[in-house]
Amino acid sequence: MKIIDSHCDLLLKMSDFPEVEFDHRDERITVSYSRLLEGQVAVQFFAIYLDSAKPYTFDRILTDADNFWRKIIPQPGVDFIRTREDLRKSVNGNKLGAILSLEGVDGLGGSFANLHILHALGLRCLGFTWNNGNWAADGIGEPRGGGFTLAGRKLIRECDKLGIIMDVSHLSENAFWELAELSESPFIASHSNARAICPHRRNLTNEQINAIIARDGRIGITLVPWFVKSASPQISDVLRHIDHICALGGTGQIAIGSDFDGIGEWIPGLEHPGKFGNLVEALLKAFSRKDVEGFLFGNMYRYLETRLPE
Ligand SMILES: [Zn+2]
Repeated sequence: MKIIDSHCDLLLKMSDFPEVEFDHRDERITVSYSRLLEGQVAVQFFAIYLDSAKPYTFDRILTDADNFWRKIIPQPGVDFIRTREDLRKSVNGNKLGAILSLEGVDGLGGSFANLHILHALGLRCLGFTWNNGNWAADGIGEPRGGGFTLAGRKLIRECDKLGIIMDVSHLSENAFWELAELSESPFIASHSNARAICPHRRNLTNEQINAIIARDGRIGITLVPWFVKSASPQISDVLRHIDHICALGGTGQIAIGSDFDGIGEWIPGLEHPGKFGNLVEALLKAFSRKDVEGFLFGNMYRYLETRLPE
């Protein structure tokens, strides 16, 4: 069964280990071309994420974008998705579609010129923060728990204008609600689960889930073990989050955002994208084929079909 995965951190690994190639099966990386093929991944979001070990600079963002362009896009069998037409062609041609996203705008340094350059390089999805606060907004781990700054509010308008998909995973709750008020577009949580099932701050409250459903946004169920269950999570626990969001009326808004290469521990049976078949198998035992197809592929496909630029 085809899968669209709305979050992975392979680009972070590629900046940590410059010798790593996309087609390598290297112990240090989880996402590789062959594993994505094995798992029948049809579309993969590749996030640019800067860790806090070094200063946040636009140069670091460009280095990650360069790796995306040089190592991932030229791989035979990969299509770069920037438009609706790219999406249709890639999926109909059974290619692996690659979407460029940004996790945290720290490295843009408040510059809209930098945003425009990234957009020209194909950026189509933007998360405002990681857990820390930055020039645009506060993340969920920022003690002051603020919302958007003035510059952050301008950034929301600019994303609306450019058609960049906005991602609320990692945002503070105040910022989430401000975005819900200020943005004209249905946003996504690319990699977050339900807090009612696993009480982690990175997961969404029922109110947040309802707001995403009401706007016809998307929620990428994530495979981060500690966002699934506080101890000994199993594949069946991933299903509990899906079940919960369905009960809130979100059967048509559920998607998948693995966070592979952003984690060093895995749910047994879901250690890399080549193992997505185990998730498919478990889902098919609990949900109708039509619903499962929606969770893994169709829901996000329909969203991208209308949200990507023409
Ligand atoms: Zn993340």
